[in-house]
Amino acid sequence: MKRIGLLGGMSWESSIEYERLINEAVRRRLGGTASADLIVRSYNFADIEAIQERDDWDGASRLLAHDAASLQQAGAELILLCTNTMHRVAEDIEAAITVPFLHIGDVTADAVRRSGVSDVALLGTRYTMEGDFYRSRLEGAGITVRIPDEPDRSMIHDVIYDELVQGRIEPSSRDRYLVAIDRMIAQGAQGVIGGCTEIELLVSEQDLRVPFYPTTSLHATAAVDAALS
Ligand code: GLU
Repeated sequence: MKRIGLLGGMSWESSIEYERLINEAVRRRLGGTASADLIVRSYNFADIEAIQERDDWDGASRLLAHDAASLQQAGAELILLCTNTMHRVAEDIEAAITVPFLHIGDVTADAVRRSGVSDVALLGTRYTMEGDFYRSRLEGAGITVRIPDEPDRSMIHDVIYDELVQGRIEPSSRDRYLVAIDRMIAQGAQGVIGGCTEIELLVSEQDLRVPFYPTTSLHATAAVDAALS
């Protein structure tokens, strides 16, 4: 089993889910007392949020690339960045390491394609919804990507920062997400990407009438497949 390095804490509300999901999958696959072999770098999310707010993506690159290299030096044989948003600097991270980097956008695109869906709603932070770095991975796989119109887009973003990363799961916000999702289904979306690693703490497949692609679960499962292959 390969040792997995996690760049986490963005936020820890979702990276503890990564740890749980990865460990549960290893137990299912190997049985007995087996658990995952992990190294975790967990950031103070307030520092990460400040970097995002001042648009310091070069600073983000330097930080994450340096720490990915440290994880490799410490023995990681496979590296995951446990946030969709920070994949904006994925190429710089990949350039700093020689072990595989499992891109969350590619893992998600694979899941969407395998399910036969070709038109999806992408929910995430404003950076993920509006930027090209994430959508291009999906569009490159032949998937049509829709993002919410305003004011839904701001609401989706604000709920992530004001509630989910702070550990608040509010039923009223779930309802607002579901209304926004319904509008996107009416526009033609056949599935919904939970393109922020905390969204699946709020919304689940059972809440929806179309397929849901929860990026934390998909990324964690893909990591275990890679670690055990
Ligand atoms: N965890 C979130 C994501 O997947 C948002 C927090 C962050 O900005 O990294 O995008």
